[in-house]
Amino acid sequence: LIKTQHNGECWMKTYNHFINGAWVEPASGEYFETDNPYTGEVWAKIARGNAADADQAVRAAKVAFDDGEWGQMRPTQRGKLLVRLAEIIEREATRLGELEVRDNGKLIAEMGAQTKYLAEWYRYYGGLADKIEGAVLPSDKPGIFNFTRYEPLGVVGMITAWNSPLLLLAWKLAPALAAGNTAVVKPSEFTSASSLEFMELIKEAGMPDGVVNCITGMGIEVGQPMVDHPDLAKVAFTGSDVAGQKIYESAARKIMPVTLELGGKSPNIVFEDADFEAAVMGAISGIFAATGQTCIAGSRLLVQRSIHDEFVKRLLEVAGAAKIGDPMSPDTHVGPVTTQPQYEKILHYMNVAREDGAPCVLGGGPYTGEGVKGNRFVEPTIFTNVENHMRIAQEEVFGPILSVIPFEDEAEALSIGNDIVFGLAAGVWTSDIGRALRMSEKLKAGTVWVNTYRAVSFMSPFGGYKRSGQGRESGQEAIKEFLQVKSVWIAQQTSPANPFIMR
Ligand code: NAD
Repeated sequence: LIKTQHNGECWMKTYNHFINGAWVEPASGEYFETDNPYTGEVWAKIARGNAADADQAVRAAKVAFDDGEWGQMRPTQRGKLLVRLAEIIEREATRLGELEVRDNGKLIAEMGAQTKYLAEWYRYYGGLADKIEGAVLPSDKPGIFNFTRYEPLGVVGMITAWNSPLLLLAWKLAPALAAGNTAVVKPSEFTSASSLEFMELIKEAGMPDGVVNCITGMGIEVGQPMVDHPDLAKVAFTGSDVAGQKIYESAARKIMPVTLELGGKSPNIVFEDADFEAAVMGAISGIFAATGQTCIAGSRLLVQRSIHDEFVKRLLEVAGAAKIGDPMSPDTHVGPVTTQPQYEKILHYMNVAREDGAPCVLGGGPYTGEGVKGNRFVEPTIFTNVENHMRIAQEEVFGPILSVIPFEDEAEALSIGNDIVFGLAAGVWTSDIGRALRMSEKLKAGTVWVNTYRAVSFMSPFGGYKRSGQGRESGQEAIKEFLQVKSVWIAQQTSPANPFIMR
């Protein structure tokens, strides 16, 4: 049940869990509040889940996987349901985009486009559902026939971060369902509403009950029991490396596969031969878009020393003119920080950078100027002459703080770029094709962009090297993350064989 009540001042929504096709009150009877990051107003109450709710949801998904209509469905039928879902998403994209903005404060200009685009993941994997093919293998055993078949894993737990809830969910849910799994979704406690409302669309698309379930609450209270549940076959996680490591450790105890999409501290590298203005815009989009709250933020800007001062001057002009304010306004460039703890973390890192001796040339504190409401805005901030060993260059902030690091030549750019525990993405700005190829080969990151930044697609694999993650999302590779392969041997003729030697 999604209830709407008037609380005396404004309309307030109350969201329950979605389990086995129905709205279910939390076992604890408790709810927590979610607010609008722009206004600071509490606009909804969300069910506070615990281990009992996780158990109920995983069991429902297990029954749907083992005994239900879903398991009997042909891959083509599953694909058609996903394509139908894609059409419903397109119809509802504007509403979903506005809902995301109300809950996470990102710009409507970006979220409106993103909610429309996420339909493509459901359509793409809907098309792939009946193209999952095993193989007849050549055999070196006379009279024995050998083939492989790909099978779903079972119940997949999907845990998402607050920055792009529905997109991060699509990256998991679309391939997992195409592969024939069932799902329990646990969105971030800061932005649960869009995933819950999405369950209505799943129902409308005709997914059988129990195939997709959604439980809400704190990571440790409901997410962890879900991960530890004996009937969970896999967890697909997007979030911080700290929580990711904990989930990986829990999964290891059960020998359970994981996909981990974790943080980053990506180098965005500008060479002197780059298209100057394009590189400036690329640097800005790398860090100030989405208020820096993006895993692929190009938070370390490496600039060749010969153009460094001129480049920083132009950066200051463009970043300094960014319009800060209402995320619902189409001409806003920088919106609020989504959560209060994140706001405090960003301010903390501004002080860390200063204490480490990095000069602050733009911003550096809370933003309270014109056009803002509430109490969760920070200034777009630039530190220059950052040294790569400083904490501001090594630790993920997840906010609009840019560290500019000068370099001499290609070798030094590579050395600084790779001197980090993360490896999610990297940017290279150059007009030299040889350099573009050398850099894209040698940078240790799951994605390398040359003369562009922040391009992602349903068709292209995305994921991290090193501490940025395990496995890949999107593209054809991703469906294999939700499948296991079985090798079947069939003797063409029965004959008694020596049982004491291997065949
Ligand atoms: P977070 O790790 O605090 O939380 C992510 C999710 O994990 C939430 O739903 C949370 O409730 C849950 N969680 C936390 N501890 C858990 C536990 N022990 N067991 C089960 N669930 C648990 O991250 P966040 O602050 O929501 O998101 C920001 C982080 O996400 C950043 O590090 C960012 O880089 C990363 N991120 C990565 C990608 C990617 O694709 N690589 C995309 C977006 C965000």
